[in-house]
Amino acid sequence: MASETGKQVVTRFAPSPTGFLHIGGARTALFNWLYARHHGGRALLRIEDTDRKRSTQDAIDKIIEGLDWLGLDYDEPPLFQSDRAQRHAEVARQLLEAGHAYKCYATPEELEEMRAQQRANKQPMRYDRRWRDRDESEAPAGAPFVIRLKVPTEGETVIEDEVQGKVTVQNAEIDDYVLLRADGTPTYMLAVVVDDHDMGVTHIIRGDDHLNNAFRQLPIIRAMDQIEGGWPDPVYAHVPLIHGADGAKLSKRHGAVGVEAYRDDEGVLPEALFNYLLRLGWGHGDREEITREEAIELFDLDGVGKSPSRFDIKKLQNLNGHYIREADDARLASLVAAKMGDGAEEKLLTEAMPVLKPRAKSVNELAEGAAFLFKERPLEMTEKAAGLLDADARTRLEGLSRRLAKENHWTLEALEATTKSYAEELELGLGKLAQPMRAALTGTTTSPGIFDVLVLLGKEESLARIDAQASPAGKE
Ligand code: GLU
Repeated sequence: MASETGKQVVTRFAPSPTGFLHIGGARTALFNWLYARHHGGRALLRIEDTDRKRSTQDAIDKIIEGLDWLGLDYDEPPLFQSDRAQRHAEVARQLLEAGHAYKCYATPEELEEMRAQQRANKQPMRYDRRWRDRDESEAPAGAPFVIRLKVPTEGETVIEDEVQGKVTVQNAEIDDYVLLRADGTPTYMLAVVVDDHDMGVTHIIRGDDHLNNAFRQLPIIRAMDQIEGGWPDPVYAHVPLIHGADGAKLSKRHGAVGVEAYRDDEGVLPEALFNYLLRLGWGHGDREEITREEAIELFDLDGVGKSPSRFDIKKLQNLNGHYIREADDARLASLVAAKMGDGAEEKLLTEAMPVLKPRAKSVNELAEGAAFLFKERPLEMTEKAAGLLDADARTRLEGLSRRLAKENHWTLEALEATTKSYAEELELGLGKLAQPMRAALTGTTTSPGIFDVLVLLGKEESLARIDAQASPAGKE
């Protein structure tokens, strides 16, 4: 399927590697990916690694790993911006030769003086175009120069943004910024435009912090289209940034902002984060739970809101709880085992999942809930659990142990029936028995249903744990 313009849709996610995949970046990646998949187009990835100090291999790996974890796949291997400096410079030279760019010989000192004057006069701080109309013959011989874009000074530039609507900027507001530095390296602004063109990008979906850049990037595109043709304006969609609960732009101050932190520290499943990021800024009626397949079918830019959405960890946790309940037990068991480390058996965890899943909102909570399975005897007791094990309770446990020891069918039904009949015999509510049982069996006061606990631990381990806390009547 093609877009309305008849061309195949090509989107790109263009992260600058800064150490991790930011939640906001992940959402941008998701929207680009979904848009391409929805339209049967291509989704591309470009690593904007021109800042060599920050763009370490580790930072690049983390982004790729995060995208992969979210299930965002790309139709071509990633393009590395730093590999393409020659090509960027070539476009700068084409613009220069065709008169859409010019050499500027202003020295750093001259520019500093210009800025100081602008500051003093309360004028906008902008390059004053001093070399724009000067003749090459005025150039100081052999002096270094930068190449600047000759932006039209008259008229206005209009963008029909798919999210922001119609946005107009007076061309006089756009500065003649640098395309190629004195050392011949391209600036970020040039690199982005050239790469988008060469990758055949038709739709640029990104954070609205780049809206101003679009007005600076378009003049390059339009100039190149005049020079050689085949440089159409892309479709723009500038998506509002994500805010924290307090309405300020999402930052470390608000807690975790990296995708890997949600995976590793918060115990979030990728499908839950996928769904949550989708709903963060995009809606389809009031549907909350939307699967990957449905998202591909439903996603379009019409549903992207114009105002910033607020990151709400509770909503993410609720969605995570939903996806945990839906998830395969063996898969969850392996995630929990990885979290618990040595000694956690996946087989037992898989058996336990049906009773652990209903109440858990994260893999961490699953792991907490499963901890009792692997505790060593004698069990360490929480203070509350220890408080339940008074002399009467210990006596009751001893009686229970004797009855359970005779149990040949270690099933939920049999264990429940035996325990209930013992409680009746003692003329006690089931709770009076179940609470000390829970303490003895798990060392805590919260656990899955007590009969599930017995079944999961098995007869031998259950009796050993109960006996460790039980004392015969009259002995204490
Ligand atoms: N590399 C830029 C960033 O990470 C994005 C550039 C773009 O999307 O045009 O913010």
